[in-house]
Amino acid sequence: MNVYDGQRIAAMLRERGYAQTDTYTDADIIILNTCAVRAKATDKVFSALGRIRTEKKPGAIMGIIGCVARESGTDAFRRVPELNFVLGPQSYHKLPEILENPDVRLFNIDLGGLEKFDELPMPNTSPALAYIPIQEGCNHCCTYCIVPYTRGREISRPFNDVIRDVTHAANTGATEICFLGQNVNGYKYTDIDGTTYRLSDLIRAAAKLDAVQRIRFTSSYPTEMTDDLIDMFRTEVKLLPFLNMPIQSGSQNVLTRMNRPYTLDLYIDIVDKLRSARPDIQISSDFIVGFPGETDADFEQTLEIARHIRYINSFSFKYSPRPHTAAALMPDQIPEKIKSQRLYILDKLLNDIQREFNDACIGQDMVCMLDGRDKTGHHWVYRTPYMQPCIVDTETAPTLAQIHVTDANKASLRGKII
Ligand code: SAH
Repeated sequence: MNVYDGQRIAAMLRERGYAQTDTYTDADIIILNTCAVRAKATDKVFSALGRIRTEKKPGAIMGIIGCVARESGTDAFRRVPELNFVLGPQSYHKLPEILENPDVRLFNIDLGGLEKFDELPMPNTSPALAYIPIQEGCNHCCTYCIVPYTRGREISRPFNDVIRDVTHAANTGATEICFLGQNVNGYKYTDIDGTTYRLSDLIRAAAKLDAVQRIRFTSSYPTEMTDDLIDMFRTEVKLLPFLNMPIQSGSQNVLTRMNRPYTLDLYIDIVDKLRSARPDIQISSDFIVGFPGETDADFEQTLEIARHIRYINSFSFKYSPRPHTAAALMPDQIPEKIKSQRLYILDKLLNDIQREFNDACIGQDMVCMLDGRDKTGHHWVYRTPYMQPCIVDTETAPTLAQIHVTDANKASLRGKII
C-alpha cells in the first residue's frame, strides 16, 4: 500500500519538475510515508526525523504522510517543530498545497475516503508489477490493530475505477496485477443499477486484458474467502497459486480475544477447499505472538497449526500494544522476554518449513517474473509464482521467463532460464 502511495506522489512531484534523489541531504522536499502498525515502526519515524531535521538542506520542506501522521496528530509538530506538513493516509493528495504555500504548515488527518485515488496524476509508465488498491480502511476491528483508527471504516472503490486503473497499468507496462486492500477479499461494490461486484469479478475482468499475465491479491481475511473466489483458483489460470491468509494465532481462546471470530476448523476447511480447487496452491500467514493472556498451551497451538497448514512463507511479530486499540488495555500483558522467546521458536519452525518447500522446488520449472538486480548488482532476481526470490544469471533478462530451479537455500532459489 505504501509503495503504491509513494508511486502516486512521485508522479505528482515529477509533473511539477522534481527529480528523485538518493540522499536526503540533497533533497528540496523530504516525505516520510509511514506505518503505525507496531510501535517500532512509529518510533523509527521519529528517530529518522530527528536525524533529518539537523542534516537537511536549509529551507528544505519536510513532513510525514500516512498512518503515523494520523496516529500522532498535532503532537507530531510538538515533537518535531521543523515539520512542514502532517497528512493522514487519506489526505496525502493535499500535498501539492505545501508546494504552493511552503510557509504555511499543512495539517490534515481527516478520513476523507476515496478522494485521494483520483486527485494525484497516474504515473506515465507502470512497473511490471502494478499495485492496484481496491478499498480503504477495514471493518474487522481486531483488538490489537490500529488500522481501523488510522485508515477508517472500510470503503470499496467503484468497480469501473479499479478496472480503469488496471487498464491504464496494462497499457503502460504492467504484466502482473496485485489487488490491494486491508481486507481485500471483502471487496464489495454495488453500482447505481444495483449490480454488486466482488473481488472475483475484478479478477475475471483483469484477466481479460492480454497484457495482464499474472494476478494476485493481498491481504485476505479468512471468513471472506467465499466460494466464488475459491472457484477463481480453479478456473483462472492467470491467478497465481499463492495466497496470504493470516491466521494470527492457533489458539481458539486467543482468536476470540483478538476479535477474529472464526474457528480453527473453519479456517482448515477453507484451506482444504482452496487446495482442492488448485492443488499447487501455497498459503502464507501473519502471526502475532505474546498477545495479552497467551499461555504456553495457546502458543503450542500456534506451532501446531503452522505445522498442519505448512505455511511456506510468513510474517511473525511480537504483539505490540497500540493506542486506540482494545487489547492495549487488556490485563495479562506478556513480558517482553517471553514474547521474544516465543517469536524465536515460531520463526525457527516457519523457517524450517520454508526451507523444506524451497528444497522441494529444486528440479521444477516455473514461470517467474523479473524483480531487478540482486544486492551485488551481478545477478538478476526473479520472483516465482510463490514469491520466492530466484537468482539467475542471464544476459537478456526478459520480464517473464521459464526458469529451471537448480538450487535452494533458506530464503531464495537459484535457477536457469530455459
Ligand atoms: N489487514 C492487514 C493488516 C495489516 S498489518 C492484513 O490482514 O495483513 C499486518 C500484520 O501486522 C497483521 O496481519 C498482524 O499480524 C500484524 N499486526 C497488526 N497489529 C499488530 C500489533 N499491534 N502488534 C503486532 N503485530 C501486529
